[in-house]
This record gives sequence, structure tokens and C-alpha cells, in this order.
Amino acid sequence: MSHKVLYIEDNPDNMLLIQRALQARGYEFLWAANGMTGIAMAQSHRPDLILLDINLPDIDGYEVARRLRSTTDKHLLYVPIIAVTANALKGDAERALAAGCDVYMSKPINVRELWARVMAYLPDPNAVVSLNGRTNK
Ligand code: MN
Repeated sequence: MSHKVLYIEDNPDNMLLIQRALQARGYEFLWAANGMTGIAMAQSHRPDLILLDINLPDIDGYEVARRLRSTTDKHLLYVPIIAVTANALKGDAERALAAGCDVYMSKPINVRELWARVMAYLPDPNAVVSLNGRTNK
């Protein structure tokens, strides 16, 4: 069963980098290019994980996180949100956590860090757990 990841990001280069990385490992990838579309897609597609850019063309990522976390939909209340921040040194990270994100990564995106963050919530769908409990790749 594949995991569904929604990436809310207006920069196509970042989007393509993450799309390729996730699809290569068998994750299902969804993309929204602005905050309002991202919220609508989160509601309709119910992703297992959300990657959230902070600087978006309409509402910012903090507002996206606040709106997702203020619904009565339990899935959206608890779905893991990883903020992808451009200005970690300027307090973006703290603001992202305060808005309801679970963790943050700073740009430029480092694919190794992406894996560490994603795998903490969604184990690699290509890793098959056999009946004796061992993991085979
Ligand atoms: Mn952006």
C-alpha cells in the first residue's frame, strides 16, 4: 500500500525535486501550487503526510497549518505536517511549530534530510515486511 504525500509549494523546481525523490521510492505524490488549493486537496485526498512551503502566493504556510489544525476533521487535525522554511534563522521554524506543524526543514532542500523526516512518519513503501518480521528491500 503506497503512502500519499501532498506537497504545497509554489516553486516548480522544489516541487520537481521532491516529486522525483518520492515517486522513485513508491510514494504517491500530490502537488498544490498555493495555500487554498492545498487545503482543498488535503480535504479531498486525505494525504498521509503534508510537506508545506511557508512562502506561498496566497495565504502563507502558517495560515495553511492553522486552518488545517482548526477543522473538526480528525484526519486533518493529526496528519503530520513538515514545514519547509526558507528563513529558519529568522524564526520561521518556531512560527511553523506554533501554527501546528510537527517539524520543519530548511531550504535549500537536502534529500537526505527529507528522507529522515518523511521516514519518521511514513516508512518506505518499498520495504516489505515478511511474515517472520524481517524487513526485505
Ligand atoms: Mn514558496
